[in-house]
Amino acid sequence: MYIPDPISKLIDGFMRLPGIGPKTAQRLSFYVLSMEEEDVMELAKALVRAKRDLQRCEECSNITDQKRCRVCGDKGRDRSVICVVQDPRDVIAMERTKEYHGLYHVLHGAISPMEGIGPDELSIPDLLKRLEDETVQELILATNPNIEGEATAMYLQRLIKPFGIKVTRIAHGLPVGGDLEYADEVTLTKAMEGRREL
Ligand SMILES: [Zn+2]
Repeated sequence: MYIPDPISKLIDGFMRLPGIGPKTAQRLSFYVLSMEEEDVMELAKALVRAKRDLQRCEECSNITDQKRCRVCGDKGRDRSVICVVQDPRDVIAMERTKEYHGLYHVLHGAISPMEGIGPDELSIPDLLKRLEDETVQELILATNPNIEGEATAMYLQRLIKPFGIKVTRIAHGLPVGGDLEYADEVTLTKAMEGRREL
């Protein structure tokens, strides 16, 4: 079947996104053709801006369009607690609970020997730097409750214990083998309440 080049390029582009197969990519592409030009421009600009204007927060490594993210810049947050998560999406999930008022640290992944991801590939050195500041009294390890997440939590616990900081792990109110970002607010809140010292 002949498909004009601009549209086949668009289909290829959509297919690079997760969870989108050839049929959905084709449907989305033809939908774009039916959109107002102004709306297409807005969408294209949003895509480019999301990539170009976002950087890592110099404090917590979360994604932000400023030097420091909104949480780190908020004077009302409790600076004695840092919640360590794997992904920026986990921060969004945790913020949805409205139960946590401390700071975050985003690792951007988990330790995975299978995928060749070691501690140096994650933002662990930046986390250690933050602990030199004596205001931090508790570190909550909120990595995912799966093999990689648990391995990362164990590694961090061993690494940080000598700092004399309380290290806690969120409880298994979360489904084992699941992802933090898909948990509902109640489950996440329960998990935070039931965290335990390691
Ligand atoms: Zn930050």
